[in-house]
Amino acid sequence: MNPTKFLNLARRKQDRRVRRELRLFNHPDLKMVCQDCISDEKVRRDIQNKLLDAMLAFDNAVGIAAPQIGILTRAICIQSQRDKAPTVLFNPVIVDHSESSTTKFEQCLSYPGVSKEVSRFDKVIVKYQTYDNVEIELTLNDFEARILQHEMNHLDGLCPLGI
Ligand SMILES: [Zn+2]
Repeated sequence: MNPTKFLNLARRKQDRRVRRELRLFNHPDLKMVCQDCISDEKVRRDIQNKLLDAMLAFDNAVGIAAPQIGILTRAICIQSQRDKAPTVLFNPVIVDHSESSTTKFEQCLSYPGVSKEVSRFDKVIVKYQTYDNVEIELTLNDFEARILQHEMNHLDGLCPLGI
């Protein structure tokens, strides 16, 4: 077997495993309030890899939160466009947001087939840590701000699509 074919096969096998791990509908992991992620670099690197694998396994994913794949800690991954690098955020905290908000339909990997209108701030400033514990402050607007707010809801067991 040529190496590319072998790699593609391995990828598909892994994608199936990741898709099996996705928590759906009434799974208790989707209702948990997650604790802060410890700063251990090895632990975080492992969580980061799992989040990135999950993003790859779901073609239309723009974000995923650790509890959606059974990791009950405060970590999320967002990727607003496929050609943009995904960002993994540990212990994200919204430190400021716009006064204005917009209501739009949202969907969620964990609630397939469900679509619901949700109001979100148009702009948020989020502080988080990278896997190697670097503190970062990031300003997100519109769609990216919406993704972030959606994924952060999961960390408190409060995805509005599941309520
Ligand atoms: Zn979701």
